[in-house]
Amino acid sequence: MKILLANDDGYRAPGLRRLKDALSGVGALTVVAPDRNRSGASNSLTLDMPLRVQRAEEDVWYVINGTPTDCVHLAITGLFEHDFDMVVSGVNDGANLGDDVLYSGTVAAATEGRYLGLPAVAVSLVLSGGRHFADAAKIARRIVESLIGERPLPRNTILNVNVPDLPIEALRGLKTTRLGFRHKAEPVIKAYDPKREPIYWVGPAGAGQDAGAGTDFDAIANGFVSVTPLQVDLTDHRAIPGIDEWLQHI
Ligand code: MN
Repeated sequence: MKILLANDDGYRAPGLRRLKDALSGVGALTVVAPDRNRSGASNSLTLDMPLRVQRAEEDVWYVINGTPTDCVHLAITGLFEHDFDMVVSGVNDGANLGDDVLYSGTVAAATEGRYLGLPAVAVSLVLSGGRHFADAAKIARRIVESLIGERPLPRNTILNVNVPDLPIEALRGLKTTRLGFRHKAEPVIKAYDPKREPIYWVGPAGAGQDAGAGTDFDAIANGFVSVTPLQVDLTDHRAIPGIDEWLQHI
């Protein structure tokens, strides 16, 4: 079992280190991660410059100027002599709930592994002051061991796992969820550079809006690990008949 580990917080991030520790012994682990924090990179590929790969330590590689998607893409399309069986991404430094998955580099790294033979897994810690990365990584191990042992899920499935920031014994269990969605993001933060030119910081994500029963937000709020199966097909299948009817009249 060859497992590729990746993240979007960069190869030195504690969540990735704890994930590597927790999965040790489950399979042959190789880490390929960005050289710095690329949170919010989504599924971007670097196409306007070459990528360089450096080795930080045995089985830990980092990609200079690389996005999370670059890392996984390189790793499964020729960086190594062998193929991988699974991608596990994380443990992200923060939640990836609801709309977050569209922006997330952590989820994108897992998405890029969807062509492999087993489900790809993204794991995020919903930080609330505890920084329980090691506990979240232990949850990841349980999920990965079960996927390897019983293969209960179809290939090409992406599992988006969010873990409350609690000691593992305080977690109430694992729940299958759907994505909720957030309110509009907080306003952009305006400041000025030394030449009095305006600069802007993207503001924080909005609070949960669709956060009711069955959503990932609800599971986390109640102390459960949230597991949402994702697919890449963004088609709004329910809208097809209505759009089709409309197109006949333009
Ligand atoms: Mn991140």
